Amino acid sequence: TYVTKIALVTGANKGIGYAIVRNLALRYAQRSSDDLPLTIFMTARDPNLGQESLKKVKQELKSKQILKDENGKVDIKFLRMDLTDEESIKEVKQVLENENGLDILINNAAIAFKGNQFDINVVHTTLETNFYGTLNVCNQLYPLIRPNGRLINISSGLGKLSTLKSSELQKKFTQEDLDIDELIGLIKKFENDVENDQWTKEGWPSQAYGVSKVGVIAMSKIFARRADSEGKNIFVHACCPGWVATDMGGPNAPRNIDQGAETPVYLALDEDVVPKTKNGEFWQYEKVIPW
Ligand code: NDP
Repeated sequence: TYVTKIALVTGANKGIGYAIVRNLALRYAQRSSDDLPLTIFMTARDPNLGQESLKKVKQELKSKQILKDENGKVDIKFLRMDLTDEESIKEVKQVLENENGLDILINNAAIAFKGNQFDINVVHTTLETNFYGTLNVCNQLYPLIRPNGRLINISSGLGKLSTLKSSELQKKFTQEDLDIDELIGLIKKFENDVENDQWTKEGWPSQAYGVSKVGVIAMSKIFARRADSEGKNIFVHACCPGWVATDMGGPNAPRNIDQGAETPVYLALDEDVVPKTKNGEFWQYEKVIPW
């Protein structure tokens, strides 16, 4: 038994991650008064940006009577975590161990190079954060997720299978019993194929971000199977936030950050719909969509 629910959001100093923190706080506070208090760990790789964002979100939520300072049931704290810095992930893990675990993990942090840049450096750098970094967070923190908890990974419409240009590759990524080592093998093959100038022939797109996000959905399905086999009632899903006006999405995107946060927050908090859904699905606009 524990007395506080714990949520953690990566890359939460700006963009969709920031809005996820704000909307988690608002939505959680609207729920019945006998719910446990919630602590949200807002994480960011840059401590200055993270602290500033913490101040900002607390300011925005002020006088709504939902924050702990005003006797509300939500507390928000900052922790530094860089997806590419294993030490920082382990430090976060230590903090969560002291809290006896966590209930909601939202993997939101990612990078995207501007335009159609594509070379081996773009490939390695993109995968390092979006794929290997997210995987590292899952590996370290998933075991701490308590029964009835949630693991939500933010992917993208570009993480759809159609991003892969050959049906053989699509088949490999969708193998029913694909495990983490095999998935890493597939992603490593992409890197090798780019290095050896044969990625097109092997069915890969000239697109590092898309492949990293295919990997995130495949990863979610693997963790979902693990959750099912452990029987701890943990829900694992991937989602696309839609096209959202952020530094990554650009100014022309039709959705604002609160709209981008809708599906992840829904998957993290909604009690009625998600548990009725098969684990490991891909969602957009609060609906399951085909991978
Ligand atoms: P932003 O670029 O606005 O924000 C990305 C966040 O991730 C920032 O906080 C950034 O930190 C953080 N980040 C980047 N690298 C790391 C790292 N190594 N360790 C920790 N944090 C890191 O992007 P969005 O808010 O638009 O994107 C959020 C998620 O939504 C991403 O997963 C993205 O792929 C996905 N998405 C976005 C779409 C859109 O239209 N915007 C469409 C589809 C998917 P810092 O400020 O230090 O750079």
